[in-house]
Amino acid sequence: MRRTSLFAAAIAAVTVSAAQAQQPPMFATTKVEGTDNVYVFRYQNHQAMFVVTPEGVIATDPIGLARPQAVTTYIDEIKKITNAPIRYVIYSHHHYDHVAGGQPFKALGATFVAHRRAKERLEALKTDHVVTPDETVDVERTITLGGTTLELHYVGRNHSDSSLVMRLPREKLIFAVDFIPIQAISAPGIIDSFPGEWEASLRKVMAMEWDRLIPGHPYGGRLGTKRDVEDLLGYFQALSDEVKKAADAGKCWDAAEKEVRLPQFASWMGYEQGIAANIRRFCGYWGRGF
Ligand SMILES: [Zn+2]
Repeated sequence: MRRTSLFAAAIAAVTVSAAQAQQPPMFATTKVEGTDNVYVFRYQNHQAMFVVTPEGVIATDPIGLARPQAVTTYIDEIKKITNAPIRYVIYSHHHYDHVAGGQPFKALGATFVAHRRAKERLEALKTDHVVTPDETVDVERTITLGGTTLELHYVGRNHSDSSLVMRLPREKLIFAVDFIPIQAISAPGIIDSFPGEWEASLRKVMAMEWDRLIPGHPYGGRLGTKRDVEDLLGYFQALSDEVKKAADAGKCWDAAEKEVRLPQFASWMGYEQGIAANIRRFCGYWGRGF
């Protein structure tokens, strides 16, 4: 009996270590290729950009919802690179999975910046696990620190009504979270999005000068390009056209969710799990008027 359970335990241990071998590490900090001072901090399936300058660090999303260790790890990773103070934390948008847990940054004296509507939402919800922004952006703001320029742009409503595009003009990099998934279908987070305005905001991003996009989730681990934004526009146009037809035929919600398919995008990450939620959101738009 005892020998059997030891044997079972040994088998279990081998199985666990084989599974662990295939898992990416819990977190990683990566310097963006070709830059002197731009980093991506990933914790599980979320990631944030930070920029190191001689006068301090500009950090973004704390990504600490229900996992305070993500935030302390983020700060530890920054401290391994520089002793300069963390001067700013900038929120990409108001969703909790990206902005919760920033208190340790606040304790270090960082100034929190977000779009005006992000602050309004967070104040209305009186959430105590998200640091309320100290300063807000309406349409545009430029932060300069230690020789680095970071532009904050509001390009309209899309995945949220508070999404900022953060652009580093010298590096031709942007950091944009959730509203430009890279060859991936967002779901079920599309529930509170703005389908009728999303495409216009993507066109504004296309018109900006940049080469590479740092996303807020790994999406397979690469940076995005303008080609990815064009592909996403193609996806939304196809989805919108097909759901409009279904809505006009009275098929929203259930029949549309079962029948509408976009096989040309079936290889995108999250397609199988996410297409029904995407159809549901566009049924709200074409079938109900918003
Ligand atoms: Zn979001």
